[in-house]
Amino acid sequence: PSTPSPDGRRILLATPRGYCAGVDRAVDAVEKALELYGAPVYVRKEIVHNKYVVETLTRRGAIFVSETDEVPEGARVVFSAHGVSPQVHAEAAARQLQTIDATCPLVTKVHKQAVRFADSDYDILLIGHTGHEEVEGTQGEAPDDIQVVNGPEDVDQVEVRDPSKVVWLSQTTLSVDETMKTVELLRARFPQMIDPPSDDICYATQNRQGAVKAMAPECDLVIVVGSANSSNSVRLVEVALEYGAAAAYRVDTAAEVQPEWLEGVTTVGLTSGASVPEILVREVVESLRELGYPEVELVTTTNEDVHFSLPKNLRADLKATG
Ligand code: SF4
Repeated sequence: PSTPSPDGRRILLATPRGYCAGVDRAVDAVEKALELYGAPVYVRKEIVHNKYVVETLTRRGAIFVSETDEVPEGARVVFSAHGVSPQVHAEAAARQLQTIDATCPLVTKVHKQAVRFADSDYDILLIGHTGHEEVEGTQGEAPDDIQVVNGPEDVDQVEVRDPSKVVWLSQTTLSVDETMKTVELLRARFPQMIDPPSDDICYATQNRQGAVKAMAPECDLVIVVGSANSSNSVRLVEVALEYGAAAAYRVDTAAEVQPEWLEGVTTVGLTSGASVPEILVREVVESLRELGYPEVELVTTTNEDVHFSLPKNLRADLKATG
C-alpha cells in the first residue's frame, strides 16, 4: 500500500508497461519446450532483448546461439520473437533442425506485407534500424526490393526504380512520432508512395509510448527498465524526454538506479519495455521506496487484452502429451 510522502515525493507507474503478447508467447515457448523435451533447447539469438530473461532461461537449460550452424544437426531450436529470414529457415531445414518459430505474429504480418509488395514489383522502404534482428529478418524476405531507411537522415539517399510503385513499411518497435517524420520526408520525395495496409508499429509499442507521453510532463525524472539492445525500451527514454520529463534514464535492474539522479526530484515516472518481466519493475519500486518515494500512483492510458497462442507444432506436441 502507498503512503503519502510529506513532501509530495511519489512514483508514477505507467500502464501499460512490460511484457507484450509477443514476448509472453516467446518466453513461454522456450519454457514449455524445456519442460516437454528437456534440456538443452537451443535458441537462435536472444529470445527477447532482455538480459534477465536470457540469464534465467540459460539457467533452466536453454543454449543461446548466434546462428543455426552452432546448433548440432537434428537438435531442437527456437527462433526468437524478432523473426528470421527465409534463408535461416532454409539453413535450419538443411541441418534437419527441429524448429519452433516464436516469431511474433505482428512481425510475421510485416514479413507478409513485404512479400506481397515485392511480388508486385514495389520498392519497399523499410523504416528501421540497420542491424536489428527484426529488420534483418524482414529484409531477408525480399533483399532486392527492400531498402532500410534508418530515419530522416537517410531519406535523401533513397533511390527507387519507379516512383509510382513505392511503399513504406516499418520495424514494429519504433517511435511513432519519429517514424511519421521520416514518412513525411519520404512522401515529399515520392508523393505516390503508399502506406502499409495496417500499422506496422505494434499495439504494444504504441501503448507503452502513449502511457509515457501522458506521464512525462509531470515527471522530474523517468526511469525505463529495459536492456540496451531493446529498441522499444530505448525509444521510451527518447519519448519521455520529448514529452517533457526533465531527465530520463534506462536501467537493466534496480541496482543501476543512481541515487544522485534523485537529487531535487519530487516525481519519478517508471515504465518498462515490452521484453521486461514485472519483477524487475517491482525491484525498482522497492529501491525508490527506500530512497524516499513511498507513494505509487498508476497512470493508465489503456487496458490491453492481447494474447497469442503458442507456436503450432509446440501446441500440438503439448496436446499429444496431455
Ligand atoms: Fe510483437 Fe510488438 Fe511485442 Fe514485438 S513488441 S514482440 S511486435 S507485440
